[in-house]
Amino acid sequence: MGGRRLRPRRAGRPGRQPAARGHVAPELSGDRAPGAVARRLFVIRSGGERTLRGLFDPWDPRAGETVEIPYYCYAIDHEAGWVLVDCGIHPALLEDPVARLGPQAAMSELVAAPGDDIASQLAGIGVRADQVVHVVLTHLHYDHCGGLCLLPAAEVHVQAVERAFAEAPPVYQAPAYQPDDWATVGRWREATGEVDLFGDGAVVAFPTPGHTPGHQSVHVRLAGGDVLVVGDAAYHPAKMRERRLPAYLWNPDAVVATWEALERRRDRSGATLLFSHYPAPDRLVLAPQAWHPPADTSGNEDEGEACGRPSCSPRSSRWRSSTSS
Ligand SMILES: [Zn+2]
Repeated sequence: MGGRRLRPRRAGRPGRQPAARGHVAPELSGDRAPGAVARRLFVIRSGGERTLRGLFDPWDPRAGETVEIPYYCYAIDHEAGWVLVDCGIHPALLEDPVARLGPQAAMSELVAAPGDDIASQLAGIGVRADQVVHVVLTHLHYDHCGGLCLLPAAEVHVQAVERAFAEAPPVYQAPAYQPDDWATVGRWREATGEVDLFGDGAVVAFPTPGHTPGHQSVHVRLAGGDVLVVGDAAYHPAKMRERRLPAYLWNPDAVVATWEALERRRDRSGATLLFSHYPAPDRLVLAPQAWHPPADTSGNEDEGEACGRPSCSPRSSRWRSSTSS
């Protein structure tokens, strides 16, 4: 295991302890060249859904309200090639979500339009789908891997346990897995543990189980700061901070352990957390513009739109609810 610390970090939020030079925590293993960074990161919205606020916390006093959440995936421009973290919805969902998803379609209402597919979204930033060399799947739920059929040239990275789980899911998660989503994949890269995609520490996938047993997140180093793309390891930053478990998960203890590990990694690196279904309206700039980490991460996780508590006041109309829109 490498013993080198990553590049110097910018100052973190008050109360964060800067990592001691030379300290290497278990989650930051790997031999990494200091200073290697990805060039750009784009936040891509590939559809979304209307669902119950209770997804994020079934005991939220406003759990019965309807909210619209995005399906975000992330395009990373590395000098050695393009990387996607997740790839959005399958094009067939636009035609008939009920036919494709079956019982899952009844749990939420798809919100998507032509042009939301990953190939169209990539075209919007001047990238052909066949230029994507790596797709890192946080997990294999349909809202994260449906675009695989549009990415024929990519190596597809998953945790091995996730793929095994997806092929024989338990009844409580089976509707979220659509085997046809990954039927076209020819180049699986199944991992057990951390994977440094380019060997330089700029894009590193690492296990974050809980939502599913093989869920993984991605640590991206950009010139402006680090990013943790956490996928569905957490849905909502305030709920994560308050340790309020979501309605949909595989293992609650693993969820909490993953939150603790993500917080340690965040505090070491000063990283900004990016989620799959949290709009972060004040901080996200969607493609075709590139997204840059905020200079001040003090409000990184402090959006309160879906918190459901009196102290949490809505700050953006983009997090819509049935009572506010
Ligand atoms: Zn999801």
